[in-house]
Amino acid sequence: MKTPLLPLRLAGGITDGIRRAWELVVPGTCHFCDALLFRSAERVPALPEYLEDGEEAYFPEDLRLCRECLEALRPEIAHRCRFCGAKNKGRLHDCEQAKYSLDVRHLGYDRVIPLDDYRLRLREAILRMKLPRYDGLSASLARLYGFYHEKQLRHLRLDFIVPVPMHRLTRMARGTSSPDIFAGILGKTLGLPVFPGLLRVNRLTKLQRSLKMEEREANVAGCFSVRYPFLAGSAIREEFWRIFKNRRVLVVDDVLTTGATCAEVSRVLRTELGVTYVAVAVLAKARGRNAAENQKEEEDDW
Ligand SMILES: [Zn+2]
Ligand SMILES: [Zn+2]
Repeated sequence: MKTPLLPLRLAGGITDGIRRAWELVVPGTCHFCDALLFRSAERVPALPEYLEDGEEAYFPEDLRLCRECLEALRPEIAHRCRFCGAKNKGRLHDCEQAKYSLDVRHLGYDRVIPLDDYRLRLREAILRMKLPRYDGLSASLARLYGFYHEKQLRHLRLDFIVPVPMHRLTRMARGTSSPDIFAGILGKTLGLPVFPGLLRVNRLTKLQRSLKMEEREANVAGCFSVRYPFLAGSAIREEFWRIFKNRRVLVVDDVLTTGATCAEVSRVLRTELGVTYVAVAVLAKARGRNAAENQKEEEDDW
């Protein structure tokens, strides 16, 4: 017997048509608050935003955020310390990270570029981004980051991007990795290759935010390494070294607090692959001298 394909196709075509017509009116919802974004309304502010160098720019159209959310997530343009990411007034400040990075060991990263401080709505957004349901929010925040820092990142003449890796069990439990999404979008914005699988996590570490500042460095020491292909001999390792030697890399993560994790990633990239320059892109810079104070500061934000 012949299956009634034609009516099915017709029905499919009609629902598809209705969906498309609906999308002409409402192209989507805000990635943060789920408000409907009507095409007729101005989705993004029509006024230009002023970038760090005072240049005017308009928010990109593909930012799926409503006006209120964009206003709440809009970063404060401020001069920041290139080592710790904290706001400073263009002067050198007493920076632990700088002392560490300028140390003879110099294996840490060369500079960090945060979008904003880890507080209020940005903090809420980053906490949500740990769930797969908010992958769209990760993408929108990555685009917002690209909007503010594309020029600065291009000046750094980077060669490739590596997201901070996540242990496979953590990833399995969460079902997503926001640094991977962030890195993917930045890769497209800057036209650079992204290597999400270049590094591996050797062991499950304690949550950095549950530890005191001085314990964090020890917690991540030796926890990352380069992921070579299975049974890779010395020839393949030499090939990796040849490819990455003297390259300039952008390491991507969501939050930077002490910088211990990113410094450890830099150390591995420098010692195992011969990378010479490491910049770090993070969505937020968390203050905090120890876990208890951090907790208090975070609570004060509410
Ligand atoms: Zn919204
Ligand atoms: Zn500093």
